[in-house]
Amino acid sequence: MTKPVVVTNILSIDLEDWHQLVHRRLKNASSSPSANVDRQLETLLALLDEHKVKATFFTLGMLAEARPELVQRVANAGHEIASHGYAHRRVYQMTRREFHADTSRGKALLESITGQEVCGYRAAEFSITRPALWALEVLAELGFEYDSSIFPIHHRRYGIADFDPRPARYQLADRRSLIEIPLATQRRAGQNVPFSGGGYFRLWPLGTLVRGFERVNATGLPVTTYFHPYEFDPERLDALAGLDRPSLKQRVSGMRLNWHQNLGRNSLRVKLGELLQRFRFTTFREYLEGADLGESRTLFSAAGR
Ligand SMILES: [Zn+2]
Repeated sequence: MTKPVVVTNILSIDLEDWHQLVHRRLKNASSSPSANVDRQLETLLALLDEHKVKATFFTLGMLAEARPELVQRVANAGHEIASHGYAHRRVYQMTRREFHADTSRGKALLESITGQEVCGYRAAEFSITRPALWALEVLAELGFEYDSSIFPIHHRRYGIADFDPRPARYQLADRRSLIEIPLATQRRAGQNVPFSGGGYFRLWPLGTLVRGFERVNATGLPVTTYFHPYEFDPERLDALAGLDRPSLKQRVSGMRLNWHQNLGRNSLRVKLGELLQRFRFTTFREYLEGADLGESRTLFSAAGR
C-alpha cells in the first residue's frame, strides 16, 4: 500500500497598514502608517510562534520605509521577507516603466533593511491579469525568482480564470524565466472558486476549511494562502478613526468598510490556529527548495506596454 503524500501548504502575509491604505482611499491623499499595525503584527507573530510556523511576508515598500524596524522584527523572527511593491498600485493601471520603478524601489528598500536578497513578489490586489502579464518579464529582469500574484478565477477586479493552478516555471522573453505560484482555488460546479484566505476564511466554518485543505492537497497541490495583519487585530477595525471631520461620502464608505472588514474577523485567529495545527505550512522559499516543478512551460505572449 502506498503511503499518502503529505503536501506542504504555503503561508503568506501581505504586510501593509490597513488604516494607511483606507485613509488614502477615503481622502485621496497619502498619510503615514498608523500605530495599529504594531498591535496587529504582534498578535499574528505570536500565533505563528505558538505553532512554530514560518511565513512569507510580502511587505509593502511605503510601510517598510516609514517603519523599517517592523521589517527587521519579522526577519529576526525567521520569516521570509518578500515584496508587495512600493505604493500598492494595481499593476494593470501602471505602465511597464512605472511598474519597474515601483517594484525596484520596494525591493531595494527591503534589501537595505534586512541585508538579504528579496526573491518573491506579490502584486497589490492580485493585479497581474492577462493584459498585465508583461509584469512577469519585469520581475524576472529585476532578479525575482518567483511571483504569487495570479488568481486563477473570474473576479471583477482581478484574476485569469483559465490560468493553470499548478506552481510552475515559465519561460519568458530574453531567455529569462520566473516561477509562478498562483493563489489556491477549488473546483466547484465547473468553476474555480478562491480558496486562499481573505473574506472566505473569515466566514466559512472550520469544517469547510479543513475539507477544502484536504481536497486541494489530495490533488498534490499546496493551498497557497494569504492573510493581512489587520485581520488579526484584537480590537474592532474603524476606517474612520483618525480622519479629521469626514464628509458624508467618506462616512458612508468608512461604515461600509467597517461592516465588511469586521465580519467574521474575530474567528480567524482561532481557525488559522487550528489549520496550523492540522496541516503542514511553510514559506514560499522553503516550499520551492523541496518542490518538483517538472518541465518549464512557455507563457503565451507576455509582451505589452
Ligand atoms: Zn495589499
